[in-house]
Amino acid sequence: MVNKERIINEFMELVKVNSLTFKERKMADLLFSKLEGLGLKPFEDKSHDNFQGEAGNIIARLKGKKEATPLLLCSHMDRVTPGEDINPVIKGNRIESDGTTVLGSDDAAGIVAILEVVRCIKENNLEHGPIEIIFTSAEEGGLFGSKYLNHKELKSEMGYVLDAGGRVGNIANQAPGQNETWITVKGKAAHAGSDVEKGINAIQVASEAISYIDWGRLDEHTTSNLGLIEGGRATNIVCDFVNIKGEVRSKCQENLDFYTLNIGKLFAAVTAKWGAKLDFTWRNIYSPFSLDNDEYVIKLAVRAAWETGVKPVVKSSGGGSDANIFNAVGIPSVNLGIGTQKAHTTEEYIHISELVNLAQLVVNIIKLA
Ligand SMILES: [Zn+2]
Repeated sequence: MVNKERIINEFMELVKVNSLTFKERKMADLLFSKLEGLGLKPFEDKSHDNFQGEAGNIIARLKGKKEATPLLLCSHMDRVTPGEDINPVIKGNRIESDGTTVLGSDDAAGIVAILEVVRCIKENNLEHGPIEIIFTSAEEGGLFGSKYLNHKELKSEMGYVLDAGGRVGNIANQAPGQNETWITVKGKAAHAGSDVEKGINAIQVASEAISYIDWGRLDEHTTSNLGLIEGGRATNIVCDFVNIKGEVRSKCQENLDFYTLNIGKLFAAVTAKWGAKLDFTWRNIYSPFSLDNDEYVIKLAVRAAWETGVKPVVKSSGGGSDANIFNAVGIPSVNLGIGTQKAHTTEEYIHISELVNLAQLVVNIIKLA
């Protein structure tokens, strides 16, 4: 039912449109006009007032023509760096970048599939339930678009996010949540020679605290990482500040918060011992989710995958996506594999057959719903 040539052409068109995170204006306008061209009435929300991006989310609705659970289809408009002036290259049965940028199949593959599904519905007069299409902005920056959606206005009772790495047929039913931590240790500056005893060295204090804390894999659900550290002014000044940025991820909300707060407690104890000061703040980027395999949203995707001729594999995902946000607001949602390989690298590529399979998979979800 899906049209391979049309899918390839639209994919090539979309990845050539610049759309870095927070700079999605051109992409948003293009998708708006494409949805209009398909006879829908899209609108753009004001979510970006909350995070100073160029574009809000683009949303469009298809009224149901049959009794079925209302569902949403979601992909994100933005992409990571280096992702400007992408020059996609078709090599045999796959599409890759020219090696200087990412390809942008994350998440153009998802967007193309959703647009193709709308065309198939129109061309074939497909019976379908109510469908909400959501193209989010600033996903890669921390799920900003979906976070600031007006969730109360959503009419869907389940969701398919098209944004998981790996083969089409993968159905992510679990994903970790993530907290970010900012730590500032404030010591006391002093001349590193004549007055060294009067100083409190923030690097020394921070090092001791860091050494008392476990990092990396913490348990089967949880990881933590120190990502950035900076501080100090000169070698002849006792270091009076260190800034440290880190994160904790866990598939379990309790563990996520426990390990996050634990970092703060250990830093507090060590800084107090030295007479240094501590600023510890953290924020939840997104919450974990975990769906049972007998949830309708999963069973439907599994049936649709068999129908498409791809093997369904229900498994957890290592990263967050817009599905975390939808689950958090009570819309059970999975993240579907879109076929993209080596995402977020300049070696990113996608097989053309995966682009086609993804669109057909979603058409089958709509048909079987
Ligand atoms: Zn993505």
